[in-house]
Amino acid sequence: MTTRRDALRAMGSLVLLLGARDLAFGASIVAVRVWPADDYTRVTIESDAALSAKHFMAENPSRLVIDVDGLELSPALRELVGKVRSDDPYIAGVRVGQNQPRIVRLVIDLKQSTAPQVFTLAPVAAYQHRLVFDLRPTQERDPLLALIKDKESAEEEAAQAVQDALGEFIGKIENKPLTPPVAAAPAKPPMQTPAPQVAGAKPSPSVAPPHDGKMDRLIIVALDPGHGGEDPGAIGPSGLREKDVVLQVALQLRDRINAVPGMRAMLTRDADFFVPLHDRVRKARRVQADLFVSLHADAFFKPHARGASVFALSQSGASSTAARWMAQKENAADLIGGVNVKAKDAAVARALLDMSTAAQIKDSMKLGSEVLGQIGKVGRLHKPRVEQAGFAVLKAPDIPSILVETAFISNPDEEAKLRDPRYQAQLVDALTTGIKRYFAKNPPIARQRAL
Ligand SMILES: [Zn+2]
Repeated sequence: MTTRRDALRAMGSLVLLLGARDLAFGASIVAVRVWPADDYTRVTIESDAALSAKHFMAENPSRLVIDVDGLELSPALRELVGKVRSDDPYIAGVRVGQNQPRIVRLVIDLKQSTAPQVFTLAPVAAYQHRLVFDLRPTQERDPLLALIKDKESAEEEAAQAVQDALGEFIGKIENKPLTPPVAAAPAKPPMQTPAPQVAGAKPSPSVAPPHDGKMDRLIIVALDPGHGGEDPGAIGPSGLREKDVVLQVALQLRDRINAVPGMRAMLTRDADFFVPLHDRVRKARRVQADLFVSLHADAFFKPHARGASVFALSQSGASSTAARWMAQKENAADLIGGVNVKAKDAAVARALLDMSTAAQIKDSMKLGSEVLGQIGKVGRLHKPRVEQAGFAVLKAPDIPSILVETAFISNPDEEAKLRDPRYQAQLVDALTTGIKRYFAKNPPIARQRAL
């Protein structure tokens, strides 16, 4: 009667065997990805089992050293070296080596002073376990400064041109002291153009040219292309990704808005990288945006669902089941895109975003109606009115905010339209007109908000 004991013994050795196997082989790499952007560069190592890592900074040259436990050096991991682009703002290069048995050392050579965040993400959606390194600048970029950078550099060039002319003029005087210069002297200082003034943490955009006597200052429109980086958003039947198409539309919309006198557009992302939801709102608030427009092209489980929708925030439940479903789907972006939940500013930012106000929602509904009316002229609408639900990205307490589902990317016909540059241009026209009409009816008042 030893069969039972034998069976138990066999099971025990099987467990031991599995344990040893796990230790010996550890996790396998599924993929490595690098997402470079001016805001930050993210490196993701996706594996079939959870990885643990220790990291430290080293200087001369400045580098981030990461020891990943339970990993053997593999060709998949070596791919990381070739995935770093030469124009990456943060990473100069990556070196990979087997530091000790089962410990792989990654050395990331840095281009600038960096505050790294290293964290793991549990499997979600199509992703398995992810080990993430976010390389962020130690000094965060000033978004308002970035907004007026082009204008400033243009002014600097103008000033330099005057300096050069002046230098030439003085040279002429020195060479020919007896010739009185009359017409050559630049008499005027560099042309003053309306631009926001950057004064510490409290920006005060200056006066813009009057527009119908209503717009008496610079209007800032925050444009928020949804998803990005690790989060592709919805994917159409032929492979068009929501994150790409909404970025294309947002970049065109930015140019159109910047061409309107007295208006400036600010993008929450201008490239393919992920921005956490609260960060999108924070960016808009930092430039004291007058509007926030989040752009999406979502999917429904029924492929025939079609038409554009415009959403505003709701304080008391969603306006329909579909609206609630859509909000839940969009709010899941942080899980898929990957947020470091332990980052110290995240909780504060989230708490702030819960202070939604009735006034904000009222203005958002007005903005939504104008935009919906215009989109209805160039495409089909999913619902003839602005819908409401608890979208996290619409929760700036002081900025009228809407989320536009430009079309259903899951519908083959609408996916084709979204890909079509002509339809994109029509959409951009409609959005611009909707925004302009909102401001014509609701002229912005003087800024009084504190940052
Ligand atoms: Zn979306």
